[in-house]
Amino acid sequence: MAATLIDGKALAAKLKQEVRAGAEALPRKPGLAVILVGDNPASRVYVTSKRKDCEECGFYSEEYALPASTSRKELLDLVAGLNGRTDIDGILVQLPLPRGLDEREVLLAIDPAKDVDCFHPYNVGQLTIGAPLFQPCTPGGVMEMLQEYGIDPAGKRCVVLGRSNIVGKPMALLLLHAHGTVVMCHSKTPDLKELAASADILVSAVGKTGLVTADMVKEGAVVIDVAMNRNEAGKLCGDVCFAEAAEKAAYITPVPGGVGPMTRAMLMKNTLTAAKLHQGVKS
Ligand code: NAP
Repeated sequence: MAATLIDGKALAAKLKQEVRAGAEALPRKPGLAVILVGDNPASRVYVTSKRKDCEECGFYSEEYALPASTSRKELLDLVAGLNGRTDIDGILVQLPLPRGLDEREVLLAIDPAKDVDCFHPYNVGQLTIGAPLFQPCTPGGVMEMLQEYGIDPAGKRCVVLGRSNIVGKPMALLLLHAHGTVVMCHSKTPDLKELAASADILVSAVGKTGLVTADMVKEGAVVIDVAMNRNEAGKLCGDVCFAEAAEKAAYITPVPGGVGPMTRAMLMKNTLTAAKLHQGVKS
């Protein structure tokens, strides 16, 4: 393998240590409330790991595991109650919600100053104009990785595969704000291979195992694999054909151990930011 491995696990551990130090310096512990509706097994795993992250960072945390039959009113009332609590700085509603509950309505109900996932339209707007209160967790984690490895997007051609609201779009915005020249690709992009192969920084957030082959990687490129897919053997993998891409790339993220741990660490960082905001402490 020619490429340098971008170690998301190690960087996330370092970031969480910094967050813990920041939390310890506050008059009151940061508090995070996580709401899980229904029994999606993947969501349950994410919620458990968030609880562990909170413990590691010295945060107070609360978990609400509600049945799939939870009504719109019950959920909105819970969010409203958490909005009003002074010991809760961040509110996270684990997506997807069961059918019958309107995700947009629920996300809109969260106080933007407690929206540590950065999904509320207010925060999305702030991000768009380059003045975000919080960094969207997954793309924000990618930017931390680039910074740690001395990779400056300024003047670089950045190609983002995927245009979802939670990954692709905010990723493109953060790269744009960092002065990259950004191209966004999606399922209707006809010349995806050529565009990917022109990237100095290639970010793949599609969710299709084996999508990014070596011919789509420019010699010396930075390859960031956001995807978390399961291959036929049930093993966690990304979009990128790792071994062949690593022969051409200068830097590459593994799956697992790349972007995933950074996403979790960024949630902790955002909760600390919210706690500082609520306690009148400058960031
Ligand atoms: P999503 O909402 O399903 O969006 C996927 C995007 O990929 C869409 O914009 C879609 O285009 C595009 N796409 C689909 N097929 C394509 C193709 N053949 N060529 C080019 N683009 C194609 O998924 P997401 O929530 O953004 O997640 C993407 C991946 O990242 C998943 O594997 C997910 O598990 C992973 N993820 C990882 C983390 C982490 O922490 N590491 C966090 C979030 C998500 P259209 O818009 O045209 O449909």
